[in-house]
Amino acid sequence: MRYLIISDIHSNWEALEAVAAKAAGQYDAVVCCGDLVGYGANPNEVIRWVRENVRAVVRGNHDKACATGEGVEWFNGAARAAAFWTHERLTPGNLAYLRNLPKGPLEVDGFCMVHGSPLDEDEYVVNSRDAQELTGYLPAPVCFFGHTHRQVMFLYTREGVKQVSPVGAEQDEQTVRLEPDTFYLINPGSVGQPRDRDPRAAFAIYDTKAREVTLYRTAYDLKSAQAKIREAGLPDLLALRLAEGA
Ligand code: ZN
Repeated sequence: MRYLIISDIHSNWEALEAVAAKAAGQYDAVVCCGDLVGYGANPNEVIRWVRENVRAVVRGNHDKACATGEGVEWFNGAARAAAFWTHERLTPGNLAYLRNLPKGPLEVDGFCMVHGSPLDEDEYVVNSRDAQELTGYLPAPVCFFGHTHRQVMFLYTREGVKQVSPVGAEQDEQTVRLEPDTFYLINPGSVGQPRDRDPRAAFAIYDTKAREVTLYRTAYDLKSAQAKIREAGLPDLLALRLAEGA
């Protein structure tokens, strides 16, 4: 099976469309590590696509906040404004869908999906030291996560935790062959609001048979996504940061 792994779409329809187009024909099923909504201007369009196309989804902190208000007190001003804006616009069906998303970890076909970390859906696993603290807590040899909006792979080997860098600015993809006796904690990066200084949409494809994970980046119609954020009256900061990848 070839899985398209996506995370942190954040209501960015243009980015999701570009990811689906770039990955077309290369996967058999889609899974998502959460944060379908919040920040961007197309929550209902994104949720409709996810409901039609994604096999398994774990909830993200923004999904929870936009659906129920829970955790919104921890958000900064722009994120809070976007959460209220999103809540007001969700259709009753999409609101119910969001509210009922399962909390991770979720096991799919022998691998695991979480939003933040296997121990805490709200935890940020940013660097090797954060990853090191999760040694022994990964529920499966291959685990996908999101939340940080940074594309990265952590390898748990006998020598400790190593890091595979994201796809470089001059590349579109990078394939890693999975070794036995190694555990992998992998962030496919954010579809709709990357924060690793590369504004291109990020995703990954996991081929369970070939035992390979490929990290991808793809450009999308950023200007259209920005224009919609401004037209919607969402904070301008949310449009600006898309161009910075921050
Ligand atoms: Zn997020």
